[in-house]
This record gives sequence, C-alpha cells and structure tokens, in this order.
Amino acid sequence: MVKVKYISTRDGSVEVSSSYGIIKGISEEGGLFVPKALPNNIEVESFIGKTYKEIATQVLSEFLHDFSKEDLEECVDKAYDNKFHVDDLVNLKKANNSFFLELFHGPTIAFKDMALCMLPQLMNVARKNIGFNKDVVILTATSGDTGKAALEGFANVDNTKIIVFYPKNGVSKIQESQMITQEGHNTYVVGIEGNFDDAQSNVKEMFTSKEMKDHLNNFGYEFSSANSINIGRLIPQVVYYVYSYVKLLEKKEIKTGEKINVVVPTGNFGNILAAYYAKNMGVKIDKLICASNENNVLSDFFKEGIYDKRREFKQTISPSMDILISSNLERLLYEIVGRDSNKVREYMNDLKERGVYKLSENEKNKLKDFYGAWVSEEETLDTVKTVYEKFNYVIDTHTAVAYRAYEKYLKDTCDDKKTIIASTASPFKFTKSVMEGLGELIEGKDDFQLLKELSEKYHMDIPKAVKELDKREILHDRVCHKDYMKDMVKEILA
Ligand SMILES: *Cc1c(COP(=O)(O)O)cnc(C)c1O
Repeated sequence: MVKVKYISTRDGSVEVSSSYGIIKGISEEGGLFVPKALPNNIEVESFIGKTYKEIATQVLSEFLHDFSKEDLEECVDKAYDNKFHVDDLVNLKKANNSFFLELFHGPTIAFKDMALCMLPQLMNVARKNIGFNKDVVILTATSGDTGKAALEGFANVDNTKIIVFYPKNGVSKIQESQMITQEGHNTYVVGIEGNFDDAQSNVKEMFTSKEMKDHLNNFGYEFSSANSINIGRLIPQVVYYVYSYVKLLEKKEIKTGEKINVVVPTGNFGNILAAYYAKNMGVKIDKLICASNENNVLSDFFKEGIYDKRREFKQTISPSMDILISSNLERLLYEIVGRDSNKVREYMNDLKERGVYKLSENEKNKLKDFYGAWVSEEETLDTVKTVYEKFNYVIDTHTAVAYRAYEKYLKDTCDDKKTIIASTASPFKFTKSVMEGLGELIEGKDDFQLLKELSEKYHMDIPKAVKELDKREILHDRVCHKDYMKDMVKEILA
C-alpha cells in the first residue's frame, strides 16, 4: 500500500509516498518534494498540557500519512531520549516581549539536532514501509552544523554510510573539531577547498547524475540526503513552532487566538519554511521575519521580489548562514507561483544559467507573510553585548543576527506582537566571536581556552558536546578540491 502524498516542485507528474520521499531525499529531475496538500487544520488549543513528544507524534502524523501511529511513537521515543539536556527538549527564555526559543540542547548543541536525531528513525521505518533493501549513502553538504548533527544521528546505523563535505576554511574551529573527531565505522568527513554553495551544488548534482547513480548501483547503494531538502529533515522542525505557541498559551503569555511573530536566522531556508508550514497548519503566526547576515540575498528578495546571487560570497561570524543559494526557498516559491511546477523550473533555470530570477508583481505581493532584514558583522557583535547587558543572557552569533533583525523590524513597523526568536546554537559553539562580542580579550587565545573563560566568567557549564574536544583523537583528515567531490565519493565507496 503506497499512499501518494508528495509531489515534486519541478515536475507535476511526480507523485510519491512520504516514505519514498524520505529515502530518496530529492526528486530525480532535481525538484524538491512537497506535500500534495499542506496540512491546514490542527486545533492548537487541543495540545495544551501535552509534552513535546506527544505534540511531535501528532504533528508528524499530519505529514507522514504512510507511517503508523505506533511507528511514529517509537521514532519519537528513540530520537528524543536523554541525548537532550533539558526537561522537555527545548527552552523558552523570556526577554520583555520576545522569547528566545532555545533549540540547542541536543547532542551537538545546534538546532539541527531536533531534526537529525529524528531522520535516521524515520528512514528506518520508511525502508520497512516501501520494502527498500539497498544500503543508503547519506551525502551531506554542511555549512558547519548539519554535518556534525547528521554524523551523530547516523553513526553506526545499519545499512547506511554517511559522507559529509564541509568548507575547509569556512567553519568555526569548534565545528571542525566536532566533525573530524567523529567516531563510527560508517562515517566519512571531507574538507573541501571551496565554500558551502560549492559543496551543496556538487552534492545536489551527484544526486541527479546518471553516472553516479549507475556507479552506486554497482555497489548496491543508493544516495539519500540529510540536508533540509529531505522532507524527513524538514518536518520535525515544524514541531517546535507548534510547541512554543502552545507553551505561550499555557504560561498565559498570550490569549487564545492571539497572533505572534517569529524570527529565524536563515541560511538554507529550512527552519523558516518549517515555521511557514506551522502557520499553514493553524498556528497563529503573523509575520515570519527572515534574518540574514551579510550574505543578504534573501532580505533583498523579500524587499524587491528579485533573487540575485551574483554577489560576493562573504565569510562571516555566523558561518552556518553563509549561503547564497537557499535551497528550500524553492518550496516557498512553489506556493508563491500557485503550485505551477513549470514556473518553478523556469525560475530555477534562470538562477542556474544567469544567477538571478525576478518574480512578477502579482507573485511578489504574495510574499507579504515575510519580512527580510540583514545584519552586519559589527551589529552582530554589538548585539551579543547589548542582549547580555539587558537580559544577563549570552547568545550565539546566529541568534544575535536574529535578535538584531527583530529590533530592525520593530523600528520599521512598530508591530510589537509577542515574538519568538529561534535560538539556533549554543554560544559555546561559536566561542571566539561570542567572547569578542562580549568585549573580552581574545587575541592570542585559542577556541578551547576561550571555552573555559566563557564558562567561568559567565557562570555557564561547558556542554558535554564540546567538553575536552581538543583532547579527542582526530579520525578524519580527507581534503579535496570542490571539483573532485565525485571522485572522493567513488574512492570512499570503493
Ligand atoms: C543551519 C543553521 C542556521 C540556518 O538554518 P537554515 O534552516 O539553513 O535556514 C542558522 N543557525 C545555525 C546555528 C545553524 O546551524
């Protein structure tokens, strides 16, 4: 029994089950899978009093029609166990009219854990659902956080290999150490000479390359993806927006039916798209505020309706958002153009061939749910400091980008609805920039020394994920040029 529920953004005739979509990761012709109809009728109030896990099971079942309730419950139990270090997986920290939604209490201290602990469980059930018995090679491009979270999720999982490509000089020292010390007989980590966009486009190309497909087939493998192009990665992220709205209701911070805004520090557009899906489900979200760093393609897009990647790629202190081609925007675009896959294909071709596409006036008007703002490096550092001074609370650089974008939005619109700020990483993951922002002396100190100082001076425990990281054995030292990623994959699988 295959329930047909997912379609491709680039080919209207492709229809697959959610299980198939999760195993494949991306559609053959390069499109992304989207629900044939977006779930749109949950009763948010009915979740009051429920735990994160209970809400997760319910929300997942709205999207994954061919998963049984028992299987989903088991997935949720296995994914969200004591790997998470706070009572109900995430925390909400009040700061005047806004709430930092701390999503970084999982095993790798970035929000990616919320989905990447779940994805291997979902794949396991998906295999069973469609009787898939080949081995899977998870091919992943990372701007720093996905890599470690995916490695952690898939290490030593049966019938699976995971290969992670990261920009050799484009991640924080701590991020790199986390990845290259990863254990697990099935894990492979490769630094590339190139940036995240290079890693991501080459990975996407491998997914759709006939040559690679045949090559893998010969070895009895099939590719899948742990990036947010995979619906199995995206859907678990919808849960925490539903959950946090429910918690605000429970705490009487908002009244039934009251609208809130959400701010998301954005790179590949996965996290904010999950908030958009939550809004569609019936969570009373008004504006979705898309925060960018100096790689400000998206804030221009929301202002002008023009997506133009023809600009300098900048390495910033919020490296997980250093992206010029935001893959998941394609899923929003699909809604904006009235679910017309020909139109999406046209725009994606323009982007590939000319580096730019332009929405029609009518399409542009449909972007009203979103507001884009970008934040400079200097503003990011300054925000780490001002948030600390105001709330006695240390945030990481990505969260600082989000908070500053929120302040810009407030100034611009005077819309002071209660607002959730997605807090995507622990400050311990970007210690050097955080300490610099706090005004501490960082010159001549390495990241590991700064970890200790951050902990001692600001009275926070060093999370287990980065404790003694500098003493762990380095297990991966592969490096390759961005144009040789295919060869590297072949070498690894040989
Ligand atoms: C991945 C990441 C982001 C960007 O999220 P997207 O879903 O790619 O938009 C923001 N902050 C941190 C810390 C991240 O790891």
